[in-house]
Amino acid sequence: MLEGLANSLQRALAKLKAKGKLTEEDVQEAMREVRLALLAADVNVKVVKDFVERVRARAIGQEVQQSLTPGQQVVKIVYEELTELMGGSQTRLRMAPHPPTVVMMVGLQGSGKTTTTAKLALSFRRHQHRPLMVAADVYRPAAIRQLEVLGRQIDVPVFSLGEGEDPVRIAEAGVAEARRMGADVVLIDTAGRTHVDEALMQELERMQAQVHPDEVLLVVDAMMGQDAVHVAEAFHTRLGVTGVVLTKLDSDTRGGAALTIRAVTGCPIKFVGMGEKIEPLEAFHPDRLASRILGMGDVLSLIERAQQAVDEQTAKEMEQKLRQARFTLDDFRQWLQQAQKLGPLDQLLSMIPGVNKLKGIENLSWDDKRFKRMEAIILSMTPEERANPDVMNASRRRRVANGSGVTVREVNQLLNQFEQMQQMMKRFSGLGRRFGR
Ligand code: GDP
Repeated sequence: MLEGLANSLQRALAKLKAKGKLTEEDVQEAMREVRLALLAADVNVKVVKDFVERVRARAIGQEVQQSLTPGQQVVKIVYEELTELMGGSQTRLRMAPHPPTVVMMVGLQGSGKTTTTAKLALSFRRHQHRPLMVAADVYRPAAIRQLEVLGRQIDVPVFSLGEGEDPVRIAEAGVAEARRMGADVVLIDTAGRTHVDEALMQELERMQAQVHPDEVLLVVDAMMGQDAVHVAEAFHTRLGVTGVVLTKLDSDTRGGAALTIRAVTGCPIKFVGMGEKIEPLEAFHPDRLASRILGMGDVLSLIERAQQAVDEQTAKEMEQKLRQARFTLDDFRQWLQQAQKLGPLDQLLSMIPGVNKLKGIENLSWDDKRFKRMEAIILSMTPEERANPDVMNASRRRRVANGSGVTVREVNQLLNQFEQMQQMMKRFSGLGRRFGR
């Protein structure tokens, strides 16, 4: 996947990685190569220019990091900027508060719309939803039949009224049918055209006004490169696309669409199509793709980031305390500070196999405000309480809540999280040890 781009970017950065010291010329030279690599991958010219400028400014102005070489530091910057370019973090589907959730699948003929509709239906079914697919593509010969065959294959019902009907009426009737049969997700396979035209847009707008979709997912073929970006712009202007599915990323595409669509249109890529076979649709993770493009495995990037942020001394001390079971709330506070530097905690944890399943932890996210509140809670405790949270009975919890200006519930939450963290750190102290080195 995106091999050409991956190879040329990695080549451009490999030279930097090998050097102990970087001059401004080294960085400039590498940025020239990065620029060429991106242009060769068919990334939009303006996007390339901004991207390279951002990386260059950060790379030249970088502070000296203890545990990364300057070259590694540049790779890290490129990784972060690539991730950001593709949308930062994963963007999920918007589900209706009152089912059924209505999803309009739109796109040009041949983009993979029907295939993707079936893949998405399968994903829903695997997650204990009850999807209904609606065959409203009345223009492409055999599209309805294709959807029916796919429906049987994945055991998802298909609603259709045949080819002579108005697509808007089919969509409406489909949503009504979903309500009747208790389906909680309706996926409407809308009609495509071979190119963007006025009749298509008007029809889709009419449908949108009738069925009020929660999501308008645009299916685009990554093989189209910059044309895919233009198609996305055209659809987005008229329909307010809520997410893009980039198909055929498995084929020999250069990557321009993947790297450009978000930056140019502002629409997040929510899923990617990775083959003709009907398998659950793959969620799009900008960070994972960036690390794949740069040839660093997920865990590798995790360790690199951790190495950069965690002060070795602190890590060693913490490890000692963990081993001797002396991990206190004061240490937790320090740990929080470190974790903040590493970026979203859930993202970090999700890279460690098994960790993402720890209950409660997945909901932790570190925004500054939240961290300040947690810190305030810990600081409102007496040294004795911090060292031994077991003594925190109800009246102490109330006192701390009052003292730090939060609710008792938040104090309880923090103490629960502390306990989970303690357990988790025990379990993963082996990995923690590697960070410290
Ligand atoms: P539609 O006209 O947009 O409904 O397109 P289809 O769903 O019929 O897909 C058009 C062609 O693209 C078919 O041959 C699909 O098998 C193929 N296709 C769809 N998605 C992918 C994908 O992610 N990867 C590859 N390699 N082929 C795909």
